[in-house]
Amino acid sequence: MIEAVMPTYARIGISFERGEGAALFTADGRRFLDFGSGIAVSLLGHSHPALVKALTDQAGKLWHTSNLYEIEGQKRLAKKLVDNCFADTVFFCNSGAEAMEGCIKTARKYHSANGNPERYRVITFEGAFHGRTLATMAAGGQKKILDGFGPVVDGFDQAPFGDLAATEKLIGPNTAAILVEPVQGEGGVRVGERAFLTGLRRLCDKHGILLLMDEVQCGMGRTGKLFAHQWTDIAPDVMGLAKGIGGGFPLGAFLATEEAAKGMTAGSHGTTYGGNLLAMAVGNAVIDQVLAEGFLERVNVVSSRLKQGLAAIADSYPTVIKGIRGTGLMLGLECAMTNGDVATALRERQLLTVPAGDNVVRILPPLVVTDAEVDESLELIESACRDLAGGESAS
Ligand SMILES: *Cc1c(COP(=O)(O)O)cnc(C)c1O
Repeated sequence: MIEAVMPTYARIGISFERGEGAALFTADGRRFLDFGSGIAVSLLGHSHPALVKALTDQAGKLWHTSNLYEIEGQKRLAKKLVDNCFADTVFFCNSGAEAMEGCIKTARKYHSANGNPERYRVITFEGAFHGRTLATMAAGGQKKILDGFGPVVDGFDQAPFGDLAATEKLIGPNTAAILVEPVQGEGGVRVGERAFLTGLRRLCDKHGILLLMDEVQCGMGRTGKLFAHQWTDIAPDVMGLAKGIGGGFPLGAFLATEEAAKGMTAGSHGTTYGGNLLAMAVGNAVIDQVLAEGFLERVNVVSSRLKQGLAAIADSYPTVIKGIRGTGLMLGLECAMTNGDVATALRERQLLTVPAGDNVVRILPPLVVTDAEVDESLELIESACRDLAGGESAS
């Protein structure tokens, strides 16, 4: 008999009762280190006092009024976002898939507003993940995700990640935009090289199409800059955010330049819940923390500590971990054995991680992770590797 909760997830049989920083606790008091942050969501860890206060203060005042009325919190959060990146304007939604739908709609509408409605196709990349709605799963283009859901939404063409020549070949009279994750998350923590990202910008400018970025997973400080593309000197025209932006409260957004948003006029797009007062209270509190003096610098320092420790473990146990990839606190263990087995061995040591494509285990601690927690995680990873390697170290 089917479970009352639709069985669409292969869940792990653990549940948690409370959390504090990078730690999660089960009802029977076991402590786990959450180095997945859910899936790159709990940006500031669990029960961050500033977030709890923002949410509970707002909860006692007002939750929802709808987008029929002005919402002060949207204006404040939008201003903080646009003051800190390429964008001029922000639309608030509830999830990553919605944010990416919004990016795609913005690109199509832009060309339509310019009198080129035939420009509707979007070039995406192998290994991409943009969500589970009909359009975003077509954008991701993964067979396993598309299978059985009928005709694939039209309008997406796919090139190998990192291949500028193949990308340019796909650009035609119907192309509206190129959509890329600067760092692929689900695809296996694949960092887009600077030359690739700047090359995409050049292609978009040359062909009069828009550059869309999916920073749902890699944005909001995860890589040590507020946005991952800020490690380069180029910027997109439109960008989607979610996951970390709400620190665990459902929130997404898409941001655009004034030019790219020219078609997004009153009535063109909408949402019932997006940007509601609770989400805005939390979203403002999250970004205030991330933009606070020294916060991102510390992310980079703690990232080096973690990455160096992981690299040393990979050197010692090459039959378990072949290498380390990623940037900031978005790191990946390139597994020499099945990634699920490595994640299981870590979980048995009460360290939570998230498997990804390319046989990678993602290490995505909350950005507030302490040095002591990093050191603890390294000991747990080393212990798991020692067991998985049969007790033998290479060094
Ligand atoms: C998780 C994710 C999404 C989809 O977000 P949902 O909130 O699950 O809809 C889209 N793009 C990227 C890069 C993601 O990691």
